[in-house]
Amino acid sequence: MADLKLIDPCNRHLNYLRISITDRCNLKCIYCVPRDQIARLAHDEILTYEEILRFVRVGLTLGISKIRITGGEPLVRKGVYGFLTELSRMAGISDLSLTTNAVVLKDSLEKIRSAGIKRLNISLDTLKREKFKKIAGMDFFDQVWQGIQGAREMGFHPIKLNIVALNGVNDDELIDMAQLSFDYPFHIRFIEYMPIGESQMGNGPLLLAPEIKKRISVLGNLIPVRNSASDGPAQRYRFEGALGEIGFIHALSHHFCDRCNRLRLTARGQLRPCLLSDRHEDVKGPLRSGCSDKELAEIFFKAVRHKPSDHNLSVQGPSRVCGQMHSIGG
Ligand code: SAM
Repeated sequence: MADLKLIDPCNRHLNYLRISITDRCNLKCIYCVPRDQIARLAHDEILTYEEILRFVRVGLTLGISKIRITGGEPLVRKGVYGFLTELSRMAGISDLSLTTNAVVLKDSLEKIRSAGIKRLNISLDTLKREKFKKIAGMDFFDQVWQGIQGAREMGFHPIKLNIVALNGVNDDELIDMAQLSFDYPFHIRFIEYMPIGESQMGNGPLLLAPEIKKRISVLGNLIPVRNSASDGPAQRYRFEGALGEIGFIHALSHHFCDRCNRLRLTARGQLRPCLLSDRHEDVKGPLRSGCSDKELAEIFFKAVRHKPSDHNLSVQGPSRVCGQMHSIGG
């Protein structure tokens, strides 16, 4: 198995696994969570940590080397720090990171660092307390901001701040958000809203990366930063004199599928070759019916064989993905 690699029919080398460890979240962001309450997965419907670790172990033999833990909100799942510790001890992971909304981050920083996490992506869609409550459904702005500052003070780097850009919601704050890259060494990443699942934002209206770029360029020239091989799809820039960076994740206005190196393991135990396609392979069933590692490897290969060459979300169409972002993990 050691020589086999996860290379898809488009010759993309898939070495990045994103793992959603829970569909539960302590926020209800309008762009992520459905308007109508949907039933949360029962405890036995989500993969156990042991099951995830076994699947990862097999993935590592196939060339997976980069792992991101996400959710729902990963820090609300019981036992997460022990799980992260076990993961970070596995040989073969060159990059282990975590995506969080930072609501409980401040009090978790020490445990996260001890567990071996060095890189954090944090969602932050507004700098205004009132608006935070409107977007996220909860009044947690202060906790989130303290968590972000605490992480910076503890030396987590880079700290990527993810902003889902929403017309009529936070478009008045694009410049203030970009300004943060002058004041702090943060990587500010503007993400185009993707109409996935039954989010409360529906199909838009969309605020796309070229428009965001135009609006924030009142702050100065955006100087391109060269992507390194392990970088994600963000188009990276830096304002002259800034401590941090600006990035754009333009899933709609400029597809980056030709460079996609990702697979996603959902909380309910499905392996998705593409965030924006509902096709998936069942992992939980085989894991629970005593399958061999060879059979688990075959699930990886099957997902890889069926990775779409391109996704079909576009700025024009109402095309939708049924899977919910909070359970796939973003
Ligand atoms: N709870 C964590 C958090 O809030 O960062 C992790 C899960 S969240 C689903 C992961 C990422 O997906 C976040 O950065 C979030 O902003 C992004 N996201 C969620 N729904 C989205 C959407 N409809 N379009 C674009 N990004 C979205």
